[in-house]
Amino acid sequence: MDEYIRKQDAVDMFNRAVQDVGILDADDIETVFGMLSSADVVPVVHGKWMKEDRGHVEYCAVCDQCGFDWMWSDRGYFKFCPYCGAKMDRKE
Ligand SMILES: [Zn+2]
Repeated sequence: MDEYIRKQDAVDMFNRAVQDVGILDADDIETVFGMLSSADVVPVVHGKWMKEDRGHVEYCAVCDQCGFDWMWSDRGYFKFCPYCGAKMDRKE
């Protein structure tokens, strides 16, 4: 699983290490970054709404990532799937 760090935390930690130790080698840098805790982030999944005609309802929109479906109206689509959180901005 990927881990993410905050950029400013990395810069701060790196600067402190340089002040304390001086020039860092590759092992030092790996140690410094290993001391950072992972940021609590979720990778963005991009999806799109698929229109589906199910006969008894005029239009049904289905998330292409998880299959969540709902009847859409002229108020527009959700920008994110309310079930899986996919960002619905994929054009293809
Ligand atoms: Zn979904």
